[in-house]
Amino acid sequence: MRDAQPRASHFIDGAYVEDTEGAEIACIYPATGETIAMLHSATPAIIDKALAAAKRAQKQWAALAPVERGRVLRRAADIIRARNQELSELETLDTGKPIQETLVADATSGADALEYFGGIATTLTGETMQLGSDFAYTLREPLGVCVGIGAWNYPTQIACWKAAPALACGNAMVFKPSEMTPLCALKLAEILIEAGAPAGLFNVVQGYGDVGAALINDGRVDKVSLTGSVPTGRKVYSAAAQGIRHVTMELGGKSPLIIFDDAHIENAVSAAINGNFYSTGQICSNGTRVFVHEGVKAQFLERLVARTRTAIIGDPMDPETQVGPLVSKAQRDKVLGYVEKGKAEGAALLIGGGIPETQKDAGFYIEPTVFDGVTDDMAIAREEIFGPVLSVLAFSDEAEVIARANATEFGLAAGVFTRDLTRAHRVVAALEAGTCWINTYNLTPVEIPFGGVKGSGVGRENARAALDHYSQIKTVYVAMGDVEAAY
Ligand code: NAD
Repeated sequence: MRDAQPRASHFIDGAYVEDTEGAEIACIYPATGETIAMLHSATPAIIDKALAAAKRAQKQWAALAPVERGRVLRRAADIIRARNQELSELETLDTGKPIQETLVADATSGADALEYFGGIATTLTGETMQLGSDFAYTLREPLGVCVGIGAWNYPTQIACWKAAPALACGNAMVFKPSEMTPLCALKLAEILIEAGAPAGLFNVVQGYGDVGAALINDGRVDKVSLTGSVPTGRKVYSAAAQGIRHVTMELGGKSPLIIFDDAHIENAVSAAINGNFYSTGQICSNGTRVFVHEGVKAQFLERLVARTRTAIIGDPMDPETQVGPLVSKAQRDKVLGYVEKGKAEGAALLIGGGIPETQKDAGFYIEPTVFDGVTDDMAIAREEIFGPVLSVLAFSDEAEVIARANATEFGLAAGVFTRDLTRAHRVVAALEAGTCWINTYNLTPVEIPFGGVKGSGVGRENARAALDHYSQIKTVYVAMGDVEAAY
């Protein structure tokens, strides 16, 4: 029996806090289905305590020199790296993702964000505008109290991608993890205190959607950053609008990966595997609509299926395991439902589609799945599945594939494989997506902006671009002469 019980459900004002009046949240290990921790959803008293602490700490934090704020973030990055093994094991327990992934992709990418924004904190500046003898200048100020709301696929990374730029700019944060993965953000809160952050600067409250909604509606909140689905994004965006609050919306996708007939096929297959089966397909930017030129489709499919057959599915704590379970039974039922829809709508199932023989009895496993003969109107080509289901669609012409790739409500990401340099740039210029990759897929280092267009979201995380979403500009006009008036 595994036990991942934290000291208490919430982390507020520098300490663990419990309130057993809140609804129970069972934390289930997706690889076995066993309950590894029992937590409680935040009550109104807990929410109030967290926001009050954040409001107080923000003023103190913003008054520090940028270099001091940056030092705290960089220290937190060092602590995370030193504890990578322990934090990666917790991430695996929280999500079910294989340890070979969590060791390199979760706490480490969170540390990258803290290190990057820790450094950049010292470079935040305003501008001066000379206006004859008068002049004006701008000050870059924090927004105040930011609320972060996370999805369940990358609990550590999402918490860090929101907290790092927010804190670098002088804000405080109240973070609500997904109720499916409540454990990892608590560790970030502990580590920030150890790194020297003031109590109350980064608080974690647990809860279902109602806790997120209560946070957004509180008058003390200046900004909301959500990572979640488009339907939740609609609700959160409209609730934030009532208070005219700033928003960042990192939402879902149904991204195209386009493989031209001059592509390096083995690399294209690698990208399709990474962009559909990594994290058991639970990645927002996945290239789930794989458009393959007719001339190379047979070759591409042969290699894709052969390589997918070798995937090692199993115990996520085993370093050899490459594919773990989905996060929950509900998510697996949803994904299996899409497999049935794909078959019913006439797509050809080439591999996968079921529960692996070796994992029938426990956990929420599903095989990496490839459909061929998918058409644009099928549900599996239109809707976000958030599981390891790859759809192959044939195309023959560049203009045609661009139009089909763009014919979606989403616009998170896109990929193009070709050896023709001008075609690569021409095609990405025409694609409606926030992030495009040429001859690779799903690489999202902290140095590059990440976010969606159209239904996939508003705002950007990472890179300098994130600073615009966690700070605001104050303009100061300075008159050097007399004031003229008409009378
Ligand atoms: P979800 O939308 O169900 O939940 C996201 C978060 O919102 C959870 O913490 C949930 O408790 C909270 N929430 C739900 N209703 C709310 C409300 N009314 N008010 C405030 N908060 C509310 O998403 P999920 O199932 O946890 O995650 C999967 C989705 O997240 C997918 O659509 C995926 O594409 C998306 N995602 C996007 C990115 C990105 O960066 N663009 C990254 C990861 C995941």
